[in-house]
Amino acid sequence: MSHSRSSRIPGFHRKPPRERLQIVADFAGLDAAAAARLADTGGLGLDLADHLIENVVGSMNVPLGIATNMKVDGEDVLIPMATEESSVVAAVCNAARQCYEAGGFTTSLSGTLMIAQIQTVGVADPHAARLRILERVHDVKAVCDGCDPVLLKFGGGFRDLEVRVLDTLSGPMVVTHLIVDTRDAMGANAVNTMAETLAPHVAQWTGGRVYLRILSNLADRRLARARAVWPLEEIGGDEVRDGIIGAYHFAAADPYRAATHNKGIMNGISAVVLATGNDTRAVEAGAHAYAARNGHYGSLTRFERTADGQLSGSIEIPMAVGLIGGATKLHPTAQASLKILGVTSAERLARIIAAVGLAQNFSALKALATTGIQKGHMALHAQNIALMAGAVGDEVDRVARTLVERGTVRQDVAQAVLEELRRG
Ligand code: NAD
Repeated sequence: MSHSRSSRIPGFHRKPPRERLQIVADFAGLDAAAAARLADTGGLGLDLADHLIENVVGSMNVPLGIATNMKVDGEDVLIPMATEESSVVAAVCNAARQCYEAGGFTTSLSGTLMIAQIQTVGVADPHAARLRILERVHDVKAVCDGCDPVLLKFGGGFRDLEVRVLDTLSGPMVVTHLIVDTRDAMGANAVNTMAETLAPHVAQWTGGRVYLRILSNLADRRLARARAVWPLEEIGGDEVRDGIIGAYHFAAADPYRAATHNKGIMNGISAVVLATGNDTRAVEAGAHAYAARNGHYGSLTRFERTADGQLSGSIEIPMAVGLIGGATKLHPTAQASLKILGVTSAERLARIIAAVGLAQNFSALKALATTGIQKGHMALHAQNIALMAGAVGDEVDRVARTLVERGTVRQDVAQAVLEELRRG
């Protein structure tokens, strides 16, 4: 049987999605029901999916939930969140409720600047070459801006030039940074084109050889910031406050803890990034690189006591998201998400997302510093376990509730509970 199973499928990419799916179904022994589920791409038409990526056979659907209670810069906003993980949406709702009366979240953005890098090697005099590039700043601007008249029309374009001489394992490299305002676009394609177009000039000015020409995902010229105050009476007193602050201190001191701390933040952030059709990997990469910018990996958030003893939380995080380009403009669910958010600029989107990250982190730290994460998590997780045990309809809730009451959320127990229930 294994003789007929070959992953060498000439012309696979040229076939229509349904033909590809048939080939995959034959290869993997998918039954008709499984194949039909794959082919059901929901709100994303199969044709559109086929244009977004290569070799499409279906789609992977993720639930979209709405976080309530958020107030950002004085305006109430509903947050669409796409995630497969339970408790993520609830965490944002809870955190937002507890700071709503105190004013919600206050946000800002450092700018909508992206950085593209051009790597040049084999330069005889790298430090003088650096200056030769810097002297050409007007030429650089002309070349970059010439690449993208549409971006210029929307107020974007080349803003600044930086050149670094890096000491590397293979000797000095001259690394040119193009700093570009990409306005309402995430900007990857926009700045990559500029870097590629400018590269031959850089090679000529330096006498070196240009290799890589691509954006940096460490978008530290595009920092989204959010802060909020949680009053003691909302969060349950000074012990809770001190527990949260202590949890932050733990993350700030220890990368083992910080990884999990920041993962929790990204639970919220990636869910909104995905819901709006933006690039989750770009934002994740930027976040983690930024968390390590001081030479050790630390927390993306901070928690402190205000002068009058309340809990103050803040976050600062690179946020390369856009409303134009990528899947944002094409995916109907992304368009609906943007409409729900009511955002008309990439800046507002980035600021709201930062607030969501802070909210998420507040809830996680509060749970961890008090009852533990499992109590809240288990109620929802129990439903997954009940489903896995075969519960259907209202059995799901009944089995889940029993599991939580008994304090053992395990699949074997769920099966036993389900059998008991069905026996009556
Ligand atoms: P894009 O190139 O599709 O669209 C951006 C362009 O839209 C601009 O260059 C401009 O010409 C035009 N535009 C129209 N109205 C605009 C406005 N109001 N503001 C700004 N520009 C406007 O998209 P992009 O944002 O350059 O690229 C994003 C895509 O690149 C994402 O899908 C991402 O996944 C992908 N990508 C990411 C990486 C990375 O992160 N390392 C690398 C390559 C590609």
